[in-house]
Amino acid sequence: MTQFPTLAFIGAGNMARAIIGGLLNNGYPAEKIWACEPEAERLQDLADQGLQVTTDNNQAVAQVDIVVLAVKPQILKPVCTDLAASAAQNRPLFISVAAGITSDSINQWLGGEHAIVRCMPNTPALVQMGANGLCANSAVTAEQKAQAEKVISATGIALWVDDEEQLHAITAVSGSGPAYYFLFMEAMIAAGTKMGLTPEVATQLTLQTARGAAEMAFQSDVPPAELRRRVTSPNGTTEQAILSFQANQLEADVETAMQACYARSEEMA
Ligand code: NAP
Repeated sequence: MTQFPTLAFIGAGNMARAIIGGLLNNGYPAEKIWACEPEAERLQDLADQGLQVTTDNNQAVAQVDIVVLAVKPQILKPVCTDLAASAAQNRPLFISVAAGITSDSINQWLGGEHAIVRCMPNTPALVQMGANGLCANSAVTAEQKAQAEKVISATGIALWVDDEEQLHAITAVSGSGPAYYFLFMEAMIAAGTKMGLTPEVATQLTLQTARGAAEMAFQSDVPPAELRRRVTSPNGTTEQAILSFQANQLEADVETAMQACYARSEEMA
């Protein structure tokens, strides 16, 4: 396997830059990466880092091993249609991070049976702490799967599912998940402030507690449910909060919210 396949990012916005940043941090050679955007001046900083840049998507797609489709979902159709000839001639692997667009639609727009990996990323990719769900269509080879995983892992973890339909569940868990935690943080900061803490102190304590709990869960060999039981002493302070959450149906609320997210993801596909 080529250690560093050539890559082209179609769209060099937030998500593309998160992946590019991770790749460069991991020692991926900048000259192996193309970045494509309609406006040349927005590519200058990437050119300064040694990337190859162009305003002509086809120039890059005609010569690279992997094309990362990183434009907004609503413009993916014209972008793919425009790439059909270069894709047919070069046959690169496509990785699409566009939410909700199926590999069948992408193939239809590209006009052929192309190797396509769909990726559902999440925004912590911006700090290389992303959680990505990946799904390959039947044209993707084992070597291309390994290459796609290496590229996407630059932003965090990457886990495969066999059925593209499962990307809806991944959207509900990790794609939209960061916002659930932000909402919980907002609520904790607001409550702590009402109890008399300054917003700064309430914010710092809330954020460090979230980071600490996540780190403990990662480092532990027992599931979160057991960690929670271990810090919930009978008749203690934590127990009172947990009992209140349970009386107010927090678990059922979380499930309902995630089902709503799943349903919306299905609707948008
Ligand atoms: P973004 O920051 O808007 O980046 C897209 C870039 O593509 C923009 O710089 C845009 O330029 C450029 N572009 C527009 N038309 C183009 C064309 N014809 N050829 C090449 N580039 C073109 O968007 P983003 O936030 O990175 O999102 C990119 C994709 O990632 C989306 O499909 C989204 O669904 C997915 N995503 C998912 C998550 C998640 O949490 N699950 C998070 C982020 C992103 P202009 O600004 O001039 O239009």
